[in-house]
Amino acid sequence: MHPHHGGLIVARPRLDGGLVTEFRRLLGEARDRLLRTVAVTDDELQGLSVPEPEFSEEAARRAGAQFLAGLEGRERREIDEIEAATARLATGDFGLCETCGAAIPMSRLRAVPWAPYCLACHKR
Ligand SMILES: [Zn+2]
Repeated sequence: MHPHHGGLIVARPRLDGGLVTEFRRLLGEARDRLLRTVAVTDDELQGLSVPEPEFSEEAARRAGAQFLAGLEGRERREIDEIEAATARLATGDFGLCETCGAAIPMSRLRAVPWAPYCLACHKR
């Protein structure tokens, strides 16, 4: 008996499995690196501003607030972009410009895996 696979068309992601794995790894590494950078900065700030070690709920809350404050600006935006790109890997939209929908060149994706725009739109 031969099972019949008629008619079902599965949308093909632009990247094959190997590239998805590669970019998932690149994005994960970039995210870790960024979080580590922020955490180190945060530790340094805490070392400067808290004279005695104090472990309480309030201190933990303060540390958390400081961590989020440290995530504002450039790093925060980059982490958001990295997470958005990771989500696009899962949906198959990865590598497509968010503005015009054109395929972002592989060389650009390798340099900036979380790039949301093609070069033309990025320059605009
Ligand atoms: Zn574009």
